[in-house]
Amino acid sequence: MRCGNGIEARQVDELFINIDPIQAGGRLTADAMKAVVAYGDGYSVCDNCRKPNRLDYISKPPIAEFHKDVAAWLNMDAVRTVPGARRGFQAIAQTYVNKGDPVLVTSLSHYTEFLAVEEAGGVAREIAANDRKIVTPEATAAKIEEVKKEFGRAPVLAFIDQVDYQYGNMHDVGGIARVAHQYDIPVVCNGAYTVGILPVDGKALGVDFVVGSGHKSMAAPAPSGILAATAERGKEVFRTTLIEGDITRRKFGIKEPEMMGCTLMGVTLVGMMASFPHVKERTKHFDRELENNRIVMEALLSIEGTACLSEYPRKHPMTRVDTTASFDTVAASHKKRGYFLQSALEEKGVTGLIPGATKVWKFNTYGMTRRQAGHLADAFVAIARENGLAVRG
Ligand SMILES: *Cc1c(COP(=O)(O)O)cnc(C)c1O
Repeated sequence: MRCGNGIEARQVDELFINIDPIQAGGRLTADAMKAVVAYGDGYSVCDNCRKPNRLDYISKPPIAEFHKDVAAWLNMDAVRTVPGARRGFQAIAQTYVNKGDPVLVTSLSHYTEFLAVEEAGGVAREIAANDRKIVTPEATAAKIEEVKKEFGRAPVLAFIDQVDYQYGNMHDVGGIARVAHQYDIPVVCNGAYTVGILPVDGKALGVDFVVGSGHKSMAAPAPSGILAATAERGKEVFRTTLIEGDITRRKFGIKEPEMMGCTLMGVTLVGMMASFPHVKERTKHFDRELENNRIVMEALLSIEGTACLSEYPRKHPMTRVDTTASFDTVAASHKKRGYFLQSALEEKGVTGLIPGATKVWKFNTYGMTRRQAGHLADAFVAIARENGLAVRG
């Protein structure tokens, strides 16, 4: 099938088990696919937009209700949809960060948090992860004190990744927020890898904001995401416009500058909404995801020389492994060189490994069935045996 203009139909998740670390949680549900077809047209959610004209007030399709549902689900007070988690970070940074202000991120933070700080004119200061690649409340306290010495004042904002993109490790956002709040620093829980994957309770964490990624973790089309705030912080980030034209004297009512008025106006929003009941349900069964990951990890660790670089046992199915002393020793003499592992996996119906990776790489078992996890585990062991690597057990 072709879509025209040289575009072929993409068939990846239809034909393979996809272990790409960033794609697993964003795969569309069947309901989202229907929504994509039905709401593909531009501004398609605007048919029934009535006064006061703003996206989050539209009741047909039930966009207003979706906003309330997401807020309740995350145990936060106010929610807006945004074109990606990064746009949530940007809205927050633009609200709190002025030129030269120090902002806390971590040594495992995603680049989009850095860019949000940069664009607002802030200065990034990283809380160091410890040697187990965990960011702790103690390290946070130490960094805040360091920043106070350097800048003569505390950081104005803190971005903390609940699960980081490098190791998929879980960090104590609640403990970190308690420390930051002693200095009146608003805390953003970056839930790009958690909102839509596992239960997230903003009030229990005690954070000011929860940001989620629709296309990474909520089975939604890109670019989509959510920005949730407490009532107090919502008033700040979701403040309404005050600007006025000098000739026409026009004002723009309840439009919110950080949202540029309206955000997701069609397929992205309706796709996220259509998946939402499924997403809510799947977070209740996160234990199954960890069990699938364990099946694959035990197989990988049975291959001599393989190490898990992420915390272990795993608390998230996105995992970083080191196969320098196992699969990489094969690459040196294999006729396909570093591509042998990817190629062997594809022959067994598995895709998503970074092309050429044999040393340090990440994979994600999220969303697999038990059978698929078993197949993946067997595939790694079989490839190891076929290439003369020692396998225990
Ligand atoms: C993927 C990712 C992001 C970016 O999310 P978008 O929705 O694509 O903007 C931010 N932070 C972390 C930790 C991520 O893994």
